[in-house]
Amino acid sequence: MTRRLTITQSEVATWLDCEMRAALRYEHRLGRPEAPVGARHVGSAMHEALRAAYATWAEMGSSAPEGTVFHAALNEANLRLDAVRDEALDTLDLFEGGEELADQVRAEHEGAVAGLALYLDEVFARDVHAYYPLAVEQAFRVPVVTDAGHDRYLVTLEGVFDLVLQRRADRALVVRDHKTVTGAADTYDVRFGLDLQLPAYLYALGQLFPGARATCAQFVAVSQSPPSVPKTILDGTVSVAKIATTRQAYEAACEAQSEPEWLAKGRAAGGAKADAAEQRWRELREKQRRLAEGLPTTLARWIAVHEHEYDPRDVEAVRGTLHEVANRVRLVRRGELTPQRNPRSCAILSCAFASPCGMGRGVEEVVALALDGGDFAQGETRHREVADAGAPWEPGKAGALPALR
Ligand code: SF4
Repeated sequence: MTRRLTITQSEVATWLDCEMRAALRYEHRLGRPEAPVGARHVGSAMHEALRAAYATWAEMGSSAPEGTVFHAALNEANLRLDAVRDEALDTLDLFEGGEELADQVRAEHEGAVAGLALYLDEVFARDVHAYYPLAVEQAFRVPVVTDAGHDRYLVTLEGVFDLVLQRRADRALVVRDHKTVTGAADTYDVRFGLDLQLPAYLYALGQLFPGARATCAQFVAVSQSPPSVPKTILDGTVSVAKIATTRQAYEAACEAQSEPEWLAKGRAAGGAKADAAEQRWRELREKQRRLAEGLPTTLARWIAVHEHEYDPRDVEAVRGTLHEVANRVRLVRRGELTPQRNPRSCAILSCAFASPCGMGRGVEEVVALALDGGDFAQGETRHREVADAGAPWEPGKAGALPALR
């Protein structure tokens, strides 16, 4: 019997990073409950707003005047951004304690508004002149191995293009990925993380539009760093540890801080103890004042557009990597291969499985421990992002390239 194996590039990237993590996530379908809506707000809001902007443009046709396209896209993107915020706030209304997260959503919404404005001014305005959007958040499904041969496995790559553009100058197809990053992230890290994704997506594009030139990939990183909330420590005062916040946010937090218990106790004791407590309180306020003075009034935002022209051989070579990983997945599924921990890229600080994953434990033991602790559940849907993006493009079904005007 010929069997089918469908993989996404993010699965492949995880298998290459750490097979244990990939096996836990994709084979044993272990996942944590979703992050609170506030934490997910900025990235998804930006994606939705950009989808609205490019979809609006695509609907207007390639000959629509640039100014008209820009204003229509701006309008739709901002409406979408507001709608995402309102949906998030409505959801939080249903939860006890949702008000705190609602403040986070509102703050992140401000970040998304600023990030979107930057993107539209710096990137979209130039796109309208040089490109035309062919697809926005488009799912795809393309073959990696078409001839099952002796291993009797057909391998398919699935994914979702953030954006496919057609360059007006030479009709070349360009795949673009959007990333929202937090303030200090280095674009090199982001670029590094896309080393597999971009050529894999170009490979898919080549399968969907045979004969078209599809070797150019771009990624756009937008920093989204809403001010961090100054930390209130146990005694009720605001921490003097330096954080990524604005002067206004820090001063507002200091203004609202409660007087510490030790101050009240000192005052009650009177005499030298009262003087010492008052002095300590003055020194703390002075430290806070100095820290506030050194904080920026706005957090810097930046946008980076990276473009890379791939050698067609690199794009083709990605097929080999996909096939190789698919083979290991197949062996793990059959029980013929134990998933390996890759100590070089053990992301123990950020890996969701860091706590149950003890060195020396087998995968079944890790699964049992993860489920026993109650922090994990089984049932994470594979390829959900692809399913959510609707009917995928497949070879022969992606339609013809438009004749640009
Ligand atoms: S903690 Fe490290 S070794 Fe364990 S699953 Fe995560 S990345 Fe892999």
